[in-house]
Amino acid sequence: MTVDSEPTCRHCGAPLKLTLVDLGLSPLANSYVPPERAGTPDPRYPLHARVCEHCWLVQVDDVVPADEIFSSEYAYFSSFSDSWLAHCRAYAETMTDRLGLGPDSLVIEIASNDGYLLQYFVQKGIPVLGIEPSGSVAKAAEEKGVPTLVEFFGTALAKRLAAEGRKPALIASANVLAHVPDIDDFVGGVAALLTGDAVYTVEFPHLLNLIDKVQFDTIYHEHYSYLSLLAVEEIFAGAGLRVFDVEELPTHGGSLRVHACLNGASRAEGPGLARVRAAEAAAKLGEAAGYQGFTRRVEAVRDGLLDFLKTAKSEGRSVAAYGAAAKGNTLLNYAGIGPDLIAYCVDRNPAKQNTLLPGSHIPVRPVEALRADPPDYVVILPWNIRDEVMQQMSDLAAKGTRFVTAVPEIRVT
Ligand SMILES: [Zn+2]
Repeated sequence: MTVDSEPTCRHCGAPLKLTLVDLGLSPLANSYVPPERAGTPDPRYPLHARVCEHCWLVQVDDVVPADEIFSSEYAYFSSFSDSWLAHCRAYAETMTDRLGLGPDSLVIEIASNDGYLLQYFVQKGIPVLGIEPSGSVAKAAEEKGVPTLVEFFGTALAKRLAAEGRKPALIASANVLAHVPDIDDFVGGVAALLTGDAVYTVEFPHLLNLIDKVQFDTIYHEHYSYLSLLAVEEIFAGAGLRVFDVEELPTHGGSLRVHACLNGASRAEGPGLARVRAAEAAAKLGEAAGYQGFTRRVEAVRDGLLDFLKTAKSEGRSVAAYGAAAKGNTLLNYAGIGPDLIAYCVDRNPAKQNTLLPGSHIPVRPVEALRADPPDYVVILPWNIRDEVMQQMSDLAAKGTRFVTAVPEIRVT
């Protein structure tokens, strides 16, 4: 797909004529800039989220060369918070009980990272297999006792594993489905690995929350798809899968965990399915009306933040940001905010410190920079961890620093 030709749906091939929001030209959200490249403008690509009016898959144009996405995506290291690990441990407990998993079962996770999830099944004596394309991360998993295949998941790998006689009782994946460019090949691979009543669970940020809470800053090039239950049921059905239950989770600003099985499996429908279907129908996610008007709400968020920053500047107040996250970069670049309005951004990840944010070129510093010279305002870019950050920074609040989030509207505490 190129910018000039009419874009088509990556699932069903229908022409994409309905815009959710066009965020203009934006650099890759995870490509942090070394200081020596400060004078060079970053490559920018169209960031345009569109809606398929046939299968209702919301998607961004696939316009970035794959090797650039690959190199930037793997520049970032996931660091797992205590709350996320607790979420994973609880999942392992629940699924072990629900499916009666034991020493003869197999659990596979796709995009298993450093074994953060599968370690909890290993602790229960349940055999596991991780699939993870990044070799350095997979090595960390092996050290935790999580056997890991260093490969990309898709139909070809799934068929090979099935031919080897691997029969998982459970396949899990969290926060990867939205990031695969060929979603049909991925879901087809899951179907090829399932047998009998085996279950696939998949977690993804819920499109309903993105729209409701104007979370447009979660849109970036590496995030190809923005998923509703409606679209997921359609895509899964095309691969011979049936969704039988859905859970609503608070993670990432509101996620879904979908439980699916083969069409012919005997799994009974859970209560979450009707509830989430009804919520999406009420929000008109199966009609163009559910998506129209989003752009206007995005512009209001942008204008609210710009007004706040310009007023702060005119009053001589100092402003810094917290969290060099992908979502912050989408927001800053769309709003055209640079170091004149936000002097610097702090981050706990040493790999990001002493770089510049892509596009905006706001310098990234260690968190201690805030304590060395407390600013008047700190804009928390990853709004989903607002409470956690304010707790960590309570000593700054005591000195008069105030905390700000911009989505879904300006909030100053
Ligand atoms: Zn479609």
